[in-house]
Amino acid sequence: MKISKVTPMVMGTAWRNLTFVKVETDEGLSGVGEVRSVNRTDAVLGYLEQAVPRYVLGSDPFEVERLVQRMLIEDYMRGSDVVSSGIALIEIACWDIMGKALAQPVYRLLGGAVRDKIKAYANGWYKVERTPEEFHAAALRVVGRGYQAMKVDPFGAGYYEMEKAEKRRAISLIEAIRDAVGSDVDILVEMHGRFNPVTAIEITRDLAPFKPDWIEEPVPPENMKALKKVADAIAPLGIPIATGERLHTLPEYRELLELQAADILQVDITHFCGLLNAKKLAAWADAYYVLMAPHNVGGPVSTAAALHLAACTPNFKIQEHFNDFQEAYVKEAAPGVPEVIDGYFDLPNGPGLGVNLDEDVIQANPRRSFHFNLFEDDWHKRQEVNDTRASNH
Ligand SMILES: [Mg+2]
Repeated sequence: MKISKVTPMVMGTAWRNLTFVKVETDEGLSGVGEVRSVNRTDAVLGYLEQAVPRYVLGSDPFEVERLVQRMLIEDYMRGSDVVSSGIALIEIACWDIMGKALAQPVYRLLGGAVRDKIKAYANGWYKVERTPEEFHAAALRVVGRGYQAMKVDPFGAGYYEMEKAEKRRAISLIEAIRDAVGSDVDILVEMHGRFNPVTAIEITRDLAPFKPDWIEEPVPPENMKALKKVADAIAPLGIPIATGERLHTLPEYRELLELQAADILQVDITHFCGLLNAKKLAAWADAYYVLMAPHNVGGPVSTAAALHLAACTPNFKIQEHFNDFQEAYVKEAAPGVPEVIDGYFDLPNGPGLGVNLDEDVIQANPRRSFHFNLFEDDWHKRQEVNDTRASNH
């Protein structure tokens, strides 16, 4: 079987452009991949334009190891978010094809199920004013949908340091959420790499009374020793550190694991060359007793891929999920993903990824032009902001 055609398509939403690819073969089977590439959709499409004829067309979709290796090595230049996303789009679609060819769900080709259900956490649910009252009410809506875990970045536009009043406000939002949801629900505190180490440590200490279940990317993602400094300081608090969504190749995880600077890895399968690479990382992390909580800010195909990895990965912890709090048509773009019920996904279905792309839905919701900036006020409302700097297509 050979890959004969690759068709990218982009669906717009209020704050995400979701890039899908349909990968077709000469035997009539096809598969799908997806990535949300924040602010870099054109770059990924441009990469595919060069890489698809060079590497993908004519390849056997069962030989993902060879295909990914060639795509990473034979361009000579090193991997990046753009390259790892482009490779992931194709790799995930290949797994979909393999599963369909063998009439099996993907997780059964990656070791088979090790669990019967997959814990989820909600994200994208706090598009409200940054007041304790509004965050309290929004958190109640999340648990009202059955979720037993949720993530939140309460820090506004914070970067490196925060003014004292702003810091108190952020802490008060977490206090309000804990007050709303009680002691048994996980509150995952997202820092988006905002802080210098001393600020991250100070804020984590201030948050400790409200029992955050992890802090995420407390410092920018490049400097593992800075992260280790935070990890050592907060270890007595018993609050784990999660990170990894902005690491894009296996070697980028080496120092993080060797320093044992994080407790949870948040690899994004769609920015990490796909499922097999993520599975390798999970095995490597397991040797350090480090858990996996893959980052997933994508639509239905990204979510399906993440669920297949979760199903077959022993050191999996919890799966991120946005799409219960976004436009309904996001799920309709590729129906087939299990819903979150009482805080858990069922195992995903097959064959393949178990989703079917609805190209009419994608075409009905064209790509939008905006810039998503996590370092400006009110970014968390995730409203569409026209980007006059972006090209208009
Ligand atoms: Mg994050």
